[in-house]
Amino acid sequence: MSDRHYRGRFAPSPTGPLHFGSLLAAVGSFLDARAHDGEWLVRMEDLDPPREVPGAADDILHTLEAFGLHWDGEVLYQSHRHAAYQAALEQLEASGATYPCACTRREIQAHAGLTGSPSIYPGTCREGLPAGRAARSVRLRVPDTDIHFDDRLQGRCVTALARQSGDFILRRADGLYAYQLAVVVDDAAQDITDIVRGADLLDCTAQQIALQQVLGYPTPRYLHLPVVVNAQGSKLGKQIRSPKVDTTHAVTTLCAVLEALGQSLPEGAGESTLEDFWSLATTAWQAERIPPTRTVPER
Ligand code: GLU
Repeated sequence: MSDRHYRGRFAPSPTGPLHFGSLLAAVGSFLDARAHDGEWLVRMEDLDPPREVPGAADDILHTLEAFGLHWDGEVLYQSHRHAAYQAALEQLEASGATYPCACTRREIQAHAGLTGSPSIYPGTCREGLPAGRAARSVRLRVPDTDIHFDDRLQGRCVTALARQSGDFILRRADGLYAYQLAVVVDDAAQDITDIVRGADLLDCTAQQIALQQVLGYPTPRYLHLPVVVNAQGSKLGKQIRSPKVDTTHAVTTLCAVLEALGQSLPEGAGESTLEDFWSLATTAWQAERIPPTRTVPER
């Protein structure tokens, strides 16, 4: 790997308690960091109050502690970072990389009804607001060129943003900063070298790299872990009311996570203390054994 000292992170959104799927993302990022003698930070992505559940942020942190997932430094809360996001937005605005947009979701959907591509912004306001319309959101002008990156697990990824997302939102009509902006600003501010997270986020990586490029930030390495799905193929999470992961038999649960991550269970891991478990699992960690798929079944 590179000379920059490894810094990884786990960045949960406090929309509910930690479930088996989010625990897998935490464990994958933690072990990859520790196996590289790196640091592992926790960032609370409490950027979107309407989607948050009161108490979930503390609950997630207590659950991480109960599993022995000890992070380095202080937890960074995105709710305290608005000034940094505003500064980045102003930098982008000043360089002409953004534009104000007046379109409502309904208008974009109506347009999509004609073209059949619901999530692609058609560029209506790119050359200026239509007469008599007021700005609602701010969008990034995406480059015409492809964005490519080599995911350590999923392989080479190439995205033509202009065709696949179009110009995307950096500040929403409700005034909130978009996740894409916040995550890029924070990963750079925290000097993150390695992002290990669920493959449900693979499709936003190109947007994040485009933003890093216009902001002049380095691009971290990426490893997108398979996402845990239930027997019906749905991703675990709030939508399907996945239960909070049980902390009473922490080592047993962690062994199931290791199995889902394709790791060979170190001898004695199942009967060890939490502390011994982490030292065995860190020594045995082999990222190349993780299934290079977008999903894995729940255990
Ligand atoms: N907060 C995001 C989520 O919980 C993850 C962000 C990231 O890892 O980049 O889905």
